[in-house]
Amino acid sequence: MNSIYFQEEHHMLRDQVRRFVDEEIRPHGESWEEAGMIPREMYRQMGELGFFGICFPEKYGGSGMNQFGMITLGEELGRSSFSGVSSSVLVHMSMSSPHLVRAGTEEQIARYLPKILSGETVCCVAVSEPDAGSDVAGIRTRAVRDGDDWVINGSKMFITNGYHGDLYFVAAKTDPSAKGSRGISMFIVEKGTPGFRPGRKLEKFGNLCADTAELIFEDVRLPLENLLGEENRGFYAVMQNFQTERLAIGTMATSEAQTALDLTIEHVRNRKAFGGALMDKQAIRQRLAMAHSKIEAGRQLLYHAAWLDNQGIDCVQEVSMVKVFCAEMVNEVMYDCQQFHGGMGYIRETAVERMVRDARLHAIGGGATEVMLEEIAKRWN
Ligand SMILES: Cc1cc2nc3c(=O)[nH]c(=O)nc-3n(C[C@H](O)[C@H](O)[C@H](O)COP(=O)(O)OP(=O)(O)OC[C@H]3O[C@@H](n4cnc5c(N)ncnc54)[C@H](O)[C@@H]3O)c2cc1C
Repeated sequence: MNSIYFQEEHHMLRDQVRRFVDEEIRPHGESWEEAGMIPREMYRQMGELGFFGICFPEKYGGSGMNQFGMITLGEELGRSSFSGVSSSVLVHMSMSSPHLVRAGTEEQIARYLPKILSGETVCCVAVSEPDAGSDVAGIRTRAVRDGDDWVINGSKMFITNGYHGDLYFVAAKTDPSAKGSRGISMFIVEKGTPGFRPGRKLEKFGNLCADTAELIFEDVRLPLENLLGEENRGFYAVMQNFQTERLAIGTMATSEAQTALDLTIEHVRNRKAFGGALMDKQAIRQRLAMAHSKIEAGRQLLYHAAWLDNQGIDCVQEVSMVKVFCAEMVNEVMYDCQQFHGGMGYIRETAVERMVRDARLHAIGGGATEVMLEEIAKRWN
């Protein structure tokens, strides 16, 4: 990768992840899609290779890389063409476990992080609810203090890794009288805690191998030490973590768009019609060249926003642009890629058919396009 943003450590990581994707994901992805789940063994293999700790500090067993570590790994996962795998893995390592490392006490980190890094524990972040997705401040799951316990009641919706997961970072209202975004706290909930269970495993349009579930909390008692971070400051933790989450979605989107484009270029080079290859048609070539240009624009915006974030510069506006631009761009690119695959683009055995379905989520999850546009507009002086 010829780019000012990547160092030797990223190149080495890229080679390692690429090998892993070619040997351990691509050959099995289709059967995982059919099964609607990813085997635990894959997480353990990734854990053994040290992938889950790449962005965590060395003192906790990580490699201490910056956002370009996550981007490198996410880009290579995107090459697999299985977005369900990317989203399950990135939820585990970049969207949920950072809550623990950023806000957890040394005891909480020592207790949970080693098994997260080894892939024995799979994590989830549970914010969305049946009545509150875009509007995080509107969540209704309630945590009430009762003696030495917190008691949680409520439900969560659309939680990635929620059905087969082990450890849940859950947002709940701790002060319902507080205005707007105040009064939310984060909690650590372990699988098997009495009163807590996954509800339905949700059947989806795409990302079939990444499990997505409802979660039910009925008088779930947690010891006080399961509060994660400061009481009533959970909204800010969620917002802070959204930055990494949105960079991760931007990474998935650009990498998947590139992968679909590569598959389509190969297809139109080989497919013959009207006495030549489809690639000979200027209309097709130019549409694909435009797609390529848009992918590159998204990629450079992603890298720039990640660089700003690494410098500790406020970049909510830029990260929101990454989320909007890359999520919309991947859907445009997928449309063209499916179009130029012709009938085969509509058939289940073609990777592009699956990728079209998977890409749709990027514009909805982790902050829908319209919500991101508001984040951009809010910051105009
Ligand atoms: C497969 C999948 C996996 C997910 N994984 C997780 C997870 O692991 N953890 C988690 O907490 N959540 C998860 N989510 C939830 C996801 O983040 C939400 O679906 C998303 O934030 C949108 O919320 P909503 O579905 O409640 O839509 P709503 O908030 O009801 O919004 C519906 C639509 O209205 C529009 N809209 C909303 N607000 C505005 C506005 N202010 N201005 C203009 N238009 C607006 C948008 O187009 C939006 O898509 C997942 C969702 C899916 C589908």
